[in-house]
Amino acid sequence: WNYHVTHFVTSAPDIRHLPADNGIEVAFAGRSNAGKSSALNTLTNQKNLARTSKTPGRTQLINLFQVAEGARLVDLPGYGYAEVPEEMKLKWQRALGEYLQKRECLQGLVVLMDIRHPMKDLDQQMIEWAVQSQIPVLVLLTKADKLASGARKSQLNMVREASLAFMGDVQVEIFSSLKKIGVDKLRQKLDSWFSP
Ligand code: GDP
Repeated sequence: WNYHVTHFVTSAPDIRHLPADNGIEVAFAGRSNAGKSSALNTLTNQKNLARTSKTPGRTQLINLFQVAEGARLVDLPGYGYAEVPEEMKLKWQRALGEYLQKRECLQGLVVLMDIRHPMKDLDQQMIEWAVQSQIPVLVLLTKADKLASGARKSQLNMVREASLAFMGDVQVEIFSSLKKIGVDKLRQKLDSWFSP
């Protein structure tokens, strides 16, 4: 699959406004600032693909990108924003859960976590929802360039160990948009999900 031709299709305020539930979707989730937009831009080799999701007021939207006919990347709203009111947070957590549990065309979930602060409560919640729905998960430990190689490896081992507790198909890899680490692993995983 050629991810470089990916283009923006539409935004949806909630799962009821998503396009028809057919074809294949792969979703990207992560805490705000985890490096999700950078990863999408790196994958697709586009400077501004995921910029739409950063425009103030649009951060709470689900953004859909098309790789090819019937193959979509879904940029889920970042979670864990400190400044968002509690009520809004709960509303969005419910919406994310609903998407992960009910979207039939969802074939895989990529969860991005800053390698220095992995597996926060909501990260674990995302993985749990996916595993419950038998959706395979790829955890990317982002900004790996921020750690020296020893610390990088020990974080990777620690998160791999922790991921066993989910009793599901959860793969963990290191990633850096800055240094282009893990991009091939991401592509391979997406290829496998888009070609079942
Ligand atoms: P998002 O909120 O999850 O979409 O995160 P962004 O992609 O906007 O990244 C948040 C911040 O982390 C920005 O300041 C990025 O420049 C920085 N960042 C993202 N990826 C990397 C990376 O691979 N290495 C480093 N050092 N910084 C990164």
